Amino acid sequence: MIVAIIALQVVGLYLLLDFLTGVVHFWMDRYGKEDMPLVGKAIIEINTWHHENPRRMTTRSYWYLCKSGWVGVGAMLTGVYLITGAVSWQWWFIGILGANANIVHQWAHKFPNEKPALINWLQKIGIIQRPHDHAQHHTKPETRSYCTYTPWLNPMLDRIGFWFGIERFFATFGIYTTDRID
Ligand SMILES: [Zn+2]
Ligand SMILES: [Zn+2]
Repeated sequence: MIVAIIALQVVGLYLLLDFLTGVVHFWMDRYGKEDMPLVGKAIIEINTWHHENPRRMTTRSYWYLCKSGWVGVGAMLTGVYLITGAVSWQWWFIGILGANANIVHQWAHKFPNEKPALINWLQKIGIIQRPHDHAQHHTKPETRSYCTYTPWLNPMLDRIGFWFGIERFFATFGIYTTDRID
């Protein structure tokens, strides 16, 4: 029983992580501005470059791709510890996988001969996102498939128009997309 509960949590947390990559990515693409304080240069500008030349990402170093993720995850885990006095395995699970999200994204831009066989296999069985899944995001007008971890959530979110719904919701409060990327 306990094994089943842990397995269910792992699957649920993994899908939550995929969704969180979508939230961050959606926000960067649709609402980010290069002149924003702190994050403008660190992540928004890098993200805009990635849309201008997606394959360029395959030449980037681990630190270039993941440093912002580790800063964000470090802040999150520190916050959890300060508030609750402990950091459960669920937070570590989301944190460590989340800090490496951009590497999973990078693998989705690499050809099979540019990455280890294990990664090709994980993509093939659908544990992590495959190149043709992520290609949906880089297909004009580049306004869908924002999640970058798994191939599972994007089709559902796109089918129900989830991200467009969020944009309409924000627009009712006078918050509009920047439309930099299209
Ligand atoms: Zn994007
Ligand atoms: Zn990409």
